[in-house]
Amino acid sequence: MPIAYFHHPECLLHDMGKGHPERASRINAIEDQLQASRLLELVRYYEAPLATRAQLTRVHDSEYIDTILNFTDKSGVVYLDPDTVLMSATPQAALRAAGAMIQAVDLVLMDQHKVAFCNIRPPGHHALRHRAMGFCFFNNVAVGAAHAIEKYGLNRVAIVDFDVHHGNGTEDIFAHEPRVMLCSTFQHPFYPYCGADTMSNHIINVPLAAGTGGDKFREAVLMHWIPNLYKFAPQLILISAGFDAHAEDDMSQLRLRENDYAWVTREILVIADKYAQGRVISTLEGGYELQSLGRSVAAHLKVLMRMD
Ligand SMILES: [Zn+2]
Repeated sequence: MPIAYFHHPECLLHDMGKGHPERASRINAIEDQLQASRLLELVRYYEAPLATRAQLTRVHDSEYIDTILNFTDKSGVVYLDPDTVLMSATPQAALRAAGAMIQAVDLVLMDQHKVAFCNIRPPGHHALRHRAMGFCFFNNVAVGAAHAIEKYGLNRVAIVDFDVHHGNGTEDIFAHEPRVMLCSTFQHPFYPYCGADTMSNHIINVPLAAGTGGDKFREAVLMHWIPNLYKFAPQLILISAGFDAHAEDDMSQLRLRENDYAWVTREILVIADKYAQGRVISTLEGGYELQSLGRSVAAHLKVLMRMD
């Protein structure tokens, strides 16, 4: 069974301004690398649908959704925070990014695919219930988890987040939702400056010091994520797949490499095979150095496609 691969041209039109690191060329760099690695010919393409308002209100306040969707200024922009710029193409792109997760959950839970990857932007894991933050508008992975719970009655959905930044938006949304386990590794202290002291039995936060490399990352995953995931026995695993902890990505000071992303993906698949019938959906978060981003996604997908 091929993996489902989501993309949409409208995700490329969202533009937060010249020099902004969260840019359309990220998506293209990934596609180019997947093509060069001959992985793209093995996936099944899907154009991401638009998420509906009802799907978004499961995880976002109505008033906040209106702020995004009612923005109709054709030429102006609004800074929702110093790094997060709402412009005319943002609402459609954000709806596609969230909609990809919705359809991915549908396909995987209806047994059409075991695995899906969403090559979308804007990313989502900093988006809070009531506001945009850190390049994120709608919390895509949270929209997917809520959909799996509400529509399919799942009781245990795991979200694994290896982006270099803490998935604070995801934590904000699910802090009091024990049907979701969030496992997050992140550089600390670092943006968004939280997460190190808010652990619970289903929020498994693992702060890592600047300079941490693959060995210590793996150790942290084996010590904190894996035992908790075994205890939780997830019926579905979602991945907030950010690749900005890569050594070549100057967004951060962690020192991961492609083989670390391949390794953690394999660990996730072991849990998925044991408890979740192999069901895994990965959605793009960060990753800003185009070469290492492309190579890291290729390494991640190769494992998800059971080729490595
Ligand atoms: Zn990040």
